[in-house]
Amino acid sequence: MKQVSFSRVMTYVRCPEHYLFRYVLGMSNAPRKVFKHGFALHETIEYHFDQKKQDGRGIKLAEAKEFFAQAFVNALEDYGTELDEARPYLTREYLSKERKISVKDMMETGMRGLEVYFRRLSPYITPDLVEEPFSFKVRQGLEMIGRIDLTDTEDVIHELKTTRVTPNKQDIRSDAQLAIYQIGYKEITGHAPKGISKDYVVLSKNNSKIVRFRVVRPFIDKRTVVRNVSAIMDAADKNIFYCMHPAESWICSKEWCSFYKFHQELKKTGLSAFMEKYREKKRRKLRR
Ligand code: SF4
Repeated sequence: MKQVSFSRVMTYVRCPEHYLFRYVLGMSNAPRKVFKHGFALHETIEYHFDQKKQDGRGIKLAEAKEFFAQAFVNALEDYGTELDEARPYLTREYLSKERKISVKDMMETGMRGLEVYFRRLSPYITPDLVEEPFSFKVRQGLEMIGRIDLTDTEDVIHELKTTRVTPNKQDIRSDAQLAIYQIGYKEITGHAPKGISKDYVVLSKNNSKIVRFRVVRPFIDKRTVVRNVSAIMDAADKNIFYCMHPAESWICSKEWCSFYKFHQELKKTGLSAFMEKYREKKRRKLRR
């Protein structure tokens, strides 16, 4: 049975060309400090709720801060190695943007984020499932896999996000990720969730805050989700990879896209020649 992860599907939704580089040609994602920071915060909160599930209390804020600092330092070590490997493929602009990001500032905002999370959210969540894996059938021979961050004992799914800008009110009932979590939740527990909450920790050195978007009765349409996942996998199997961003889009810029150089090469050589060249490179890499 072929398996597809949620993050893989979402990569195609956001940028089919990125999907080609990452999943078809096996190129590594270049690291970003901000991702390592988000990862360390997630790890900390996950550890807290794991403990809370066992002892009803979880860890104290001071311990959470220590855990986060260590997780972030470890993640930055990986960052250094990954950046060295990716350096030849990255633009000067990308590297310069990364260099300017201050680790000290990130450490501080992480601490402020934990303070507000532990004060404003954690006491009101009694964990049930923590990082629980799920899977469900998409069609014959294809299965979707993923993990739900957190659910509480009132059957509410919590999706934790960290961000630096206050998110706008949005209709989370049409959020693809949450729709998949809903199906996953039902597969695990045998019943639908009673609510879905997107919990944002808005990080700032002086004014970190929590913003939540929550629906009581989430909209669920398993058929639409399954149909879309199936169509995306068909498109990828048929080599449909395109740049869908407008020319002036900041996403497709030298500063932001770690695949920018490959993007330019692909435009110049065309899909077939590009795939032939990098498929061969991938094969050689696998043989080593
Ligand atoms: S340059 Fe644009 S289209 Fe190409 S991978 Fe990057 S974001 Fe996607």
